[in-house]
Amino acid sequence: MSDASYDVVVVGGGPAGAMSARYAAMGGAQTLLIEEHRAAGSPVQCTGLVSSKTLDVCEITPGPWVYQEVTGAHIFAPDGSSISIGGEKVRAYVVDRKMFDRHLMGEAASAGVEVMIGTKAVGLGGINDKKVLEVISDGRKMRITAGVVIGADGVQGSIARWSGLGQVQKVLSGVQIETVYDVEDTDHVEVFVGSEVPGFFAWVVPVSDNAARIGLCVDPARTQSSAYEHLMQFMTSNPRMKERSANGCSDMLVGCIPLGPQVCTVADGVLITGDAAGQVKPTSGGGVYMGALCAKIAGEVVAKAALSGDTSAGALMEYDRQWREAVGRELAVGMRIHKVFGRLGDEDFNELIRFFGEPDVLELINAHGDIDHPSILLGKLLAKAKGKKLLGMFRVALKAMVGRE
Ligand SMILES: Cc1cc2nc3c(=O)[nH]c(=O)nc-3n(C[C@H](O)[C@H](O)[C@H](O)COP(=O)(O)OP(=O)(O)OC[C@H]3O[C@@H](n4cnc5c(N)ncnc54)[C@H](O)[C@@H]3O)c2cc1C
Repeated sequence: MSDASYDVVVVGGGPAGAMSARYAAMGGAQTLLIEEHRAAGSPVQCTGLVSSKTLDVCEITPGPWVYQEVTGAHIFAPDGSSISIGGEKVRAYVVDRKMFDRHLMGEAASAGVEVMIGTKAVGLGGINDKKVLEVISDGRKMRITAGVVIGADGVQGSIARWSGLGQVQKVLSGVQIETVYDVEDTDHVEVFVGSEVPGFFAWVVPVSDNAARIGLCVDPARTQSSAYEHLMQFMTSNPRMKERSANGCSDMLVGCIPLGPQVCTVADGVLITGDAAGQVKPTSGGGVYMGALCAKIAGEVVAKAALSGDTSAGALMEYDRQWREAVGRELAVGMRIHKVFGRLGDEDFNELIRFFGEPDVLELINAHGDIDHPSILLGKLLAKAKGKKLLGMFRVALKAMVGRE
């Protein structure tokens, strides 16, 4: 016996959960969203840097949850040299992620989604052509029947596993502190590459003129040390950190970033979206844009499937097809960039930053750089690199990045 029944049940109240639920409800499906924590967006596991396109995809305008507008980035090579990219245009926002998530949840509720917080999915089964979710809500066990279950339960989620959809290709480890920092430009983020951050990069994202979120991610396959140990090393040895940051911090978070989606993201009566499906940009680790974009597709497809009565994997494959058509190539190119960058040494990075700093290359970056779609710029960089005296490795690397190896 089930305690409640819905067309669609979304597990997870992050951006992907809120967007998929909102679109399912807008499509006419009776939709429930469950979130295990007692507050949406909590605990925060994010720097809160979202592109302006993210807000467009989420169909929201900047609100009081925006701390800073970002127009560019200072990128630092291992030898300490740097380039500045960007321009006048606002390309991204530094947001309060907790408030951002709550805003998205509010939009979902306004669209007709029923929200149950403090409710954790603990099992998934099936009866006839329906899914049955076992949940614990405020200490009480319940069974909820659904035409379709959307797994928007993040990188540690269970829905993919319970449905036999397997795992993402790779998981990076991240850590971040919020601390006093003498910010040079409040509208620029800082990025640090090199062997001190194996397999990824470190960042400084301003929250005011004297405070910043400083963090890094590492690829566990490329280091024996934890992300935390790398951050402590970075804070004490990087000259810019020594000069501009203070000891101690007001906040610390750790988290994981999934890269590389599963081969298939649907099963009978189930689909997965957002971090749960590895829909994260492998170049930046940002998942809010891709997750929200794919989640919208998920919501639209499940509403149609649930209302038509055909919730088979075959019917839900429409979601898998559509999201791969929208961002599949971008994710594949991003994975290639990620792999190539993981192979570069400090000297390679120094030379790459020098190349990026050449006036005509910089002009190209400023004109075509798009943090959500780096493949557009890469194609142009490859053409530009043809006439340059670059290390052979870069030629190979750039070609590999755009898939012309
Ligand atoms: C250190 C770090 C920094 C980052 N910085 C950025 C950034 O600046 N910009 C950016 O775009 N991305 C960033 N990301 C990535 C971003 O946080 C994620 O991509 C994004 O949150 C994914 O959204 P989601 O809705 O898929 O999953 P989540 O936001 O993880 O939401 C999943 C939700 O599901 C809930 N849940 C899980 N299991 C269950 C269950 N069994 N029952 C009920 N509820 C459940 C969880 O409580 C959670 O609320 C960062 C990640 C890390 C680790």
